[in-house]
Amino acid sequence: MSILVYLENWDGKFKKSSFELVSYAKAMAEKTGGDVTVLSIGDVSETELQELSKYGASKILSAKGDIYKSLDNAVYSKTISAAAQTQDCKIIVMANNNTGKGIAPRVAVRLKAGLVSGATALPLSIEPFQVQKNVFSGKAQGVQQVNTRNKVITLAQNSFMLMENELPFAHEVFDAGIGAEELKTELMSVDKVTDKLLLSDADIVVSAGRGMKAPENWGPVEELAQVLGAATACSRPVSDEGWRGHEEHVGQTGKVIAPNLYFAFGISGAIQHLAGVSSSKVIVAINTDAEAPIFGAADYGIIGDLKEVLPKLVEAAKSFKASV
Ligand SMILES: Cc1cc2nc3c(=O)[nH]c(=O)nc-3n(C[C@H](O)[C@H](O)[C@H](O)COP(=O)(O)OP(=O)(O)OC[C@H]3O[C@@H](n4cnc5c(N)ncnc54)[C@H](O)[C@@H]3O)c2cc1C
Repeated sequence: MSILVYLENWDGKFKKSSFELVSYAKAMAEKTGGDVTVLSIGDVSETELQELSKYGASKILSAKGDIYKSLDNAVYSKTISAAAQTQDCKIIVMANNNTGKGIAPRVAVRLKAGLVSGATALPLSIEPFQVQKNVFSGKAQGVQQVNTRNKVITLAQNSFMLMENELPFAHEVFDAGIGAEELKTELMSVDKVTDKLLLSDADIVVSAGRGMKAPENWGPVEELAQVLGAATACSRPVSDEGWRGHEEHVGQTGKVIAPNLYFAFGISGAIQHLAGVSSSKVIVAINTDAEAPIFGAADYGIIGDLKEVLPKLVEAAKSFKASV
C-alpha cells in the first residue's frame, strides 16, 4: 500500500517537521509494503525538494502556480486528492497543524476515507488498520481503527523521529488541472511575525500566565527566552487581555506545541491549556499554589513566587551559558 505525504513549505523552505512526516511515512510504508510519494504545493526550489529524498521519498511531486499563492483549503484538498488517486496511494499523511486540520477532513471526504487526526505513532497493525492518537485534548491516548480502503492521517508534531533513508531524487511536476475559477476565497492581507523564533519550531518554550499580573512584567520572561534561545508563549487569558499577541497563545484554542522543554510561569494548568502543551518532553512549572493543576502535568515543579524565581533562573541560565 503506497503512501502520499502532503508537505507544506514556509516561504519555499521545509521545516524539520516536514522531514519528520516523510520519515514517518517511510517507516509506515515498510509495514504496508509500498512506496512514499511526496506532494509539495507551492513555490519550492529543486534543491529544497531534493532534501526530501534523504528521508525516504521515492517520488516527489511538485504542484506550482498562481492558484496556490494563498492557502485555499478547497483547492489544496482537491490537488492532494487528485495526486493520491493518480499515484494510487491509499494512505495520505499530513501534519496535524492548522493547515493539516483544515485540509485533512476535506481530503477524507473527497476520497471517502476514514480520518485519524493527531496520530502519535506508527500503526499498531495494518490489517485491521489501527493507529494510536491523542484523545480528550491530549489527556489520554486512544486506538482508532480505520475500516475504509483509503485512509487519511494527520501526525501530531514531534511524535516521530527523523530517519535518514536516502533514495535517488525522482521529481515530477504535478498538474491537478485546477482553474482560477475554483478559488472561492481571496486573501486580503497578511500580518507576519518575523523577528521572533516561531513557537512551532522552538525546542524550548518559556510561557507565562495571568500570575504575571501585568504586561509590563514580561521583561524577565523575554530575557530568559533570549538566554535559552527559546520562544515565548502565554495562556489564553493573557492574549485575550491583550498583554501578549494571539500568536503566542497555546492550548486547545491556541497553538498545540511539543517542545523538548516547556516552562510555565504563573499558569494554573487548566485542561484547555494542557491540551496544547502536554506533549512537551519536559514541563517545568513555577507557581505559588502547591495545589495548582499544572503540577500534576509537570516533571519539575517550583512552589514559589515567580518574581523571585524568574530572576534567579535568568542568572543561572546566563552563568551556565558562560561556562560552556
Ligand atoms: C472553550 C475554552 C477554551 C480555552 N482554551 C484555552 C487555551 O487554548 N489556552 C489556555 O491557556 N486557556 C484556555 N482556556 C482558559 C482556561 O480554562 C484557563 O482559564 C486559563 O488557561 C487560565 O490561565 P492562567 O493559568 O494564565 O490564569 P489563572 O487561572 O488565573 O492562573 C494563574 C496562576 O498563577 C499563579 N500565580 C499567581 N501569582 C503568582 C506568582 N507571583 N508566582 C507564581 N505563580 C503565581 C496562581 O496560583 C495561578 O495558578 C479555555 C477555556 C475555555 C472555556
